[in-house]
Amino acid sequence: MREFLVAGNWKMNGSAADSEALVSGIVEGAPAVAGYRLLVCPPFTYLASVAGLLTGSNIALGAQNVSQFESGAHTGEIAASMLKDVGCEYVIVGHSERRAMSGESSDIVAAKFLAAQAAGLIPILCVGETLQEREAGTTEKVIDEQLDAVLVAAGIDAFESAVVAYEPVWAIGTGKTAGPAQAQDVHQHIRGRLAAHKPELAEKLQILYGGSMKGDNAPGLLSMADIDGGLIGGASLKANDFLAIAAAAAQS
Ligand code: PEP
Repeated sequence: MREFLVAGNWKMNGSAADSEALVSGIVEGAPAVAGYRLLVCPPFTYLASVAGLLTGSNIALGAQNVSQFESGAHTGEIAASMLKDVGCEYVIVGHSERRAMSGESSDIVAAKFLAAQAAGLIPILCVGETLQEREAGTTEKVIDEQLDAVLVAAGIDAFESAVVAYEPVWAIGTGKTAGPAQAQDVHQHIRGRLAAHKPELAEKLQILYGGSMKGDNAPGLLSMADIDGGLIGGASLKANDFLAIAAAAAQS
């Protein structure tokens, strides 16, 4: 039985005070039941203060990005070891905003995945198609290419300690959500692709859905066999909205 993971990607939002208020609200309101876990991914500058406020809770800390390099002359970058140092357990790699706006290729994403694992972090590998790709009928091909770049670089066993997030680009921040059956099809495809290498590993892998998930659509999405949680953008910025998704996971 896979545990649900509900992860909040705060992106580049809020102040120090906002971050502290948000995490405090989440810690206070999180349903205390087994079977699901919460994760928050604040901006880099607030990781340390949020880590302090998470102490004693079962809520995990993650970052939104990581350098593929270990250390050295990479001005403005943050190494995986630094994220580990500040208390992160997870890091998002390959978010579509970074693929599109920062020119991160699947090879760079694979290098970041490896760097994260080398430092003991769990990478959350984001994959997903654009609207144009979906309409052209190439959704599975696009996702296979994104997954295969990591499979070739890291090998199937690396997915023992990783999470995959299916995030259709057309559903991110748009209010359009993939329907439960539509998302399930892709999740099943992802699990099947990894199962072709190692079935028992694929069975244990958490595959999250991301794209305008909210309290009202979460129960339907989380009821699907291969959807093991959510990667939440907009609805992770208000404690009550995030907690509504947490409640759906806690009850699923
Ligand atoms: C995201 O950016 O990962 C995301 C899923 O955003 P939103 O929930 O706002 O669509």
